[in-house]
Amino acid sequence: MAKKSVKDLDLKGKKVLVRADFNVPMKDGKITNDNRIEAALPTLEYIIEQGGKVIVFSHLGRIKTEEDKEKNTLRPVSVRLGELLGKDVKFVPETRGEELETAVDALEEGDVLMFENTRFEDLDGKKESGNDEELGKYWASLGDVFVNDAFGTAHRAHASNVGVATNVESAAGFLVQKEIDFIGGAVDNPERPFVAILGGAKVSDKIGVIENLLEVADKVLIGGGMAYTFFKSQGKEIGTSLLEADKVELAGSLLEKAGDKLVLPVDTVVAKEFDNDSPSQIVEGDIPADSMGLDVGPKTVELFAKELEGAKTVVWNGPMGVFEMSNFAKGTEELSKLLANLEDATTIVGGGDSATAVQQLGYEDDFSHISTGGGASLEYLEGKQLPGIAAISDK
Ligand code: AMP
Repeated sequence: MAKKSVKDLDLKGKKVLVRADFNVPMKDGKITNDNRIEAALPTLEYIIEQGGKVIVFSHLGRIKTEEDKEKNTLRPVSVRLGELLGKDVKFVPETRGEELETAVDALEEGDVLMFENTRFEDLDGKKESGNDEELGKYWASLGDVFVNDAFGTAHRAHASNVGVATNVESAAGFLVQKEIDFIGGAVDNPERPFVAILGGAKVSDKIGVIENLLEVADKVLIGGGMAYTFFKSQGKEIGTSLLEADKVELAGSLLEKAGDKLVLPVDTVVAKEFDNDSPSQIVEGDIPADSMGLDVGPKTVELFAKELEGAKTVVWNGPMGVFEMSNFAKGTEELSKLLANLEDATTIVGGGDSATAVQQLGYEDDFSHISTGGGASLEYLEGKQLPGIAAISDK
């Protein structure tokens, strides 16, 4: 069932609750990267233009002690948000109570108020993270409508997303809507051929994703550290490469079931040490006993390029090698380039390290969608219902 979008809501003069994802990296009380605040602007600016009264909130970090509260106050975020919006953002250093309620009542059309880190409520019995019923109801009571624009927490049922949404009319903000359109679209109703590319360290982290994508995609290309567990299941020598011994059997049965739908690397960049300066060579077939695979080789890139020809939908999650080391980043770089230059294809990067790689390489604008949620996008790709999205009102 399609979900309501912020555009479906009547916002004029309404108190609009907005769950944003302002979980920004901080050091010594300073924001070190404000991408997430910038990303929230389109939804907030739209609500302001429509004459809504914005009450925005978010979590920041984890709160287990009183000291955590000091380190994780949202106050600096409210200041930065004000600078980016070019208007005052009223900050209320509470998550409930009279001061907050009075400030909400004083809002005029187009005003913006931010209240304190929702996870401050976790100190007293995990009320936010445990989706405490009373808390969700209370926050919902502060507004007339609710807009969820925090995809990063959509795979969790918290009071600030699911709790609020179940108590007041709700809609997806532009960021969440884009995730629904692209990731949801790819998983539910992709334009074909649909090619999925999976990499990263471990098979075990992505079993659900591999299984689901083998159902819905036309091809699944595997790279990264997880490939060696598949090699092992084929009886190949993998030297000292990453291996999950307890997943060899599973890898074997996936290969058997998938047939030629599942495509493995045909060559590997190997080295003796897990070190950027360790001399490397390219091998096809067995990996020498004293070496480990740290990247896919050029023939694999060529093979993947062929498999991608004519693809209409591509989803990529996980680097092809240890891309943090420049000498083993080539596979990931080449794949980014390939995808950036694919014509007439919807290209989606499913969060995490592959999103970082694409951004670092400067290909960000050449992809249709780069997901903002690591865990959430993985669970979405597994075909799971995300509670944060499921709770949004149906259209
Ligand atoms: P993930 O979070 O599962 O997407 O895994 C990302 C991590 O996988 C990155 O830190 C990569 O360095 C690592 N990785 C990718 N390929 C390999 C490999 N061949 N050996 C060891 N680690 C790898």
